Formats: sequence, C-alpha cells, structure tokens
Amino acid sequence: MVDRSYFDWNATAPLRPQAVAALADALTVAGNPSSVHAEGRAARRLVERAREQVAALVGAEPGNVFFTSGGTEANMLALTPAIETAQDKRPRGRLLLSAIEHSSVRTGGRFPAAMVEDVPVKADGSVDLDALGAALARAARPLVSLMLANNETGVVQPVAEAAAITHAAGGLVHVDAVQGPGRMPCDIAALGADLLTISAHKLGGPKGVGALVRRGDAIHFPEPLIRGGGQERGLRAGTENVAGIVAFGAAADAVREQCAAEAERMRTLREALEAGLRAIAPDVVIFGEAAQRLPNTTLFAVEGMKAETAVIAFDLEGIAVSSGAACSSGKVQPSHVLAAMGVSPALLRGAVRVSLGWTTTDADVECFLAAWRKLAKALSKGHSIAA
Ligand code: PLP
Repeated sequence: MVDRSYFDWNATAPLRPQAVAALADALTVAGNPSSVHAEGRAARRLVERAREQVAALVGAEPGNVFFTSGGTEANMLALTPAIETAQDKRPRGRLLLSAIEHSSVRTGGRFPAAMVEDVPVKADGSVDLDALGAALARAARPLVSLMLANNETGVVQPVAEAAAITHAAGGLVHVDAVQGPGRMPCDIAALGADLLTISAHKLGGPKGVGALVRRGDAIHFPEPLIRGGGQERGLRAGTENVAGIVAFGAAADAVREQCAAEAERMRTLREALEAGLRAIAPDVVIFGEAAQRLPNTTLFAVEGMKAETAVIAFDLEGIAVSSGAACSSGKVQPSHVLAAMGVSPALLRGAVRVSLGWTTTDADVECFLAAWRKLAKALSKGHSIAA
C-alpha cells in the first residue's frame, strides 16, 4: 500500500539517486571553476565532465552546451533576433511560435512583440505545418521556436518536418525539448534543431539548472544574456552552479542508459490508467489522443468537472495531479493549449493532467483509479467535484 502517489512528473520529477549522490559529493568541492589553483581546477573538471554528459544525452559536442538556470533561461537565451550564423550576420526578422508553447517561449524572449507571430495548432494538438509553411513564406530570416512535446497534452510535435521546411526557407529552429528527455529520444541532429533547450528538473536532476545546446559552432550569439565575469563562454555570466550542474550530468547519464526501458514501462502503465479512466467514466475525453503522445502523459476531462476542485479531491485521496500547467502564482488559468486546440470552454475548465515517471508502479495506478472511481461517482450525482 502506498501513502501518496505522485502523478505530476511534467511539473517536476524527483531527483534520481545518481543525481542525489553526485550532488552530495559536489557540494563539498570548495573551488570556483574560474580559479586557477588546484581547487578551482577540480571544480572546473566537474563542470566540464557534466557538460560532456549533457552533450551526450542530446548527441551534441560538449563545447556547444551552455549551462543556464533552467529551461526558462535557456529559452530566453535562444530567443533573440541577434543570432548570427556563419553565412548570415544579419538579425533575425521574425519569431514564429506555435500557439501551445510554454509561457517562457510564448513571451517571445528578447524579440520585440511586433516581431512575434503565432502559428496555429490542429485539433489533435500538433502544430499546423501548412500554416507554418505559409508564415515562413512571409517572413524574412525567421527563427521558429517549437516544443518537442507539449507539457499539458504530451502531444509530440512534428519537429523534424517543421525544421526541414524552416531550413528550406532560410530559417533557424529552436526546440524547447524540456519535456522530452527520459520519455523519448532527443537527438539534436535527428530533430533538425539548431538550438535545443533542456531542463534538469524534468529528467531527475535538480531544479534551477538547465542548458541551451546548439547544433554547431556556426551559430553565434553576439549578445550575452547576462553580462559580468564572462562564464559560459561569455554568454551567461555568474559563477557556475557547480553542484547543480554535476547532478544534472549524473541524471543525464542515467536517462541515456534507462530512457528506452522506462518509456516502455510508463506506456504500459499509462495504457492501464486510461483504460481504467474510461471504464469508470465512459464519456471521459482524453486530449491529443489522435496524435503521437509522450508515453507518460494523460490530460483528461469530463463535462461538468471543475479542474481545481478535482485536483483538491485527488490530493485528499493521496494523489498528486495537476490542472494543466503548473503556475507560479498557484492560480489556475484556463489552458491556452486546449483553447488553441479548439476545446469547448465547458471541457477546458475541467482538464486534469496525470503524468507518470520511472518510479510509478501498478499500485500507484490502482490508487489513482480508486480515487477516480469515488470522484466520478460524486460527479455523476452532481456534487463535490462539479462546478
Ligand atoms: N518549457 C517547457 C515545455 C516546460 O514544461 C517548462 C517547465 O514546466 C519550461 C520550459 C521551463 O523550465 P524551467 O522550469 O526549468 O524553467
């Protein structure tokens, strides 16, 4: 019998044991990686080893990994008109974003608002490639930013296809891959990405560390994101978060070794969970079901259910789920992702996200379904979790 069942892995994942051990070791390292003495060199070696581990996770060269304070900052670093390539030093003319991006991309980074254009998604939750093609035809030197998989629905985006048409139109591609590693392969070249964002805390590393990865050194940022001591090859000043970076590296290694097996296990558990959801409430709607999804994510709703109330009811039953994206204010906002998919307001306010991870067990799924049985019964009687 489990006390609590954690089903909010898309908000954050628990630390992997390998990351805990690496973090504890690195916390006792005294040196500053920029110092020339032995202590400093020891810290530098740790950071560079982690850079190799993170690079290996996404098939990049270590020299193309820039550590940041997380996915949000990596997105901010990537989204600037001032990206130069070996062939073209002129600023980017337009930022094209899908309508379902994470808020850290939706805000456009360092692009002026007038240069940012939305690309719609289809009803299945995947970006509309025809609309992207039309937007590319109108844009000069575009930067396209697309997520690898949506954090709410889990829908995997056609990133490689989008990259091919973007490159043919002379554009560059940034992929927010934060939800990918540990759930699906995430090779920067296979995705066709020029720039890739990853975040440690979604894959079993600590919160507050991430990376922007570039495909090759032909891509250049003339403007630092943070000015100061010139760390991260001048792009992002500030003494490195050595312990966090080291733990990120250890988690990246673990993901590389275990991702395929973990993804299969999660898929089987998720299938059981969705079959149970349906058996209990046949009119349940599972969003993005028609598209390819991450193996760990289910976003569902039943008409008449209010998400905030359902999340609290699940919590009281020992189940941690969320109502769409986690929001720092704790306030539940209507999902821009479901709105972009054309979901009706009545269903949209009832969407509950269940996301699994490598420690999720059959017993957790059973606990979830037992709680869902109670909630669905209350809902059918028109009280407790109804709006
Ligand atoms: N991008 C996506 C798709 C996310 O899901 C998140 C976090 O929820 C982020 C970016 C932001 O990452 P971080 O929390 O590391 O800033």
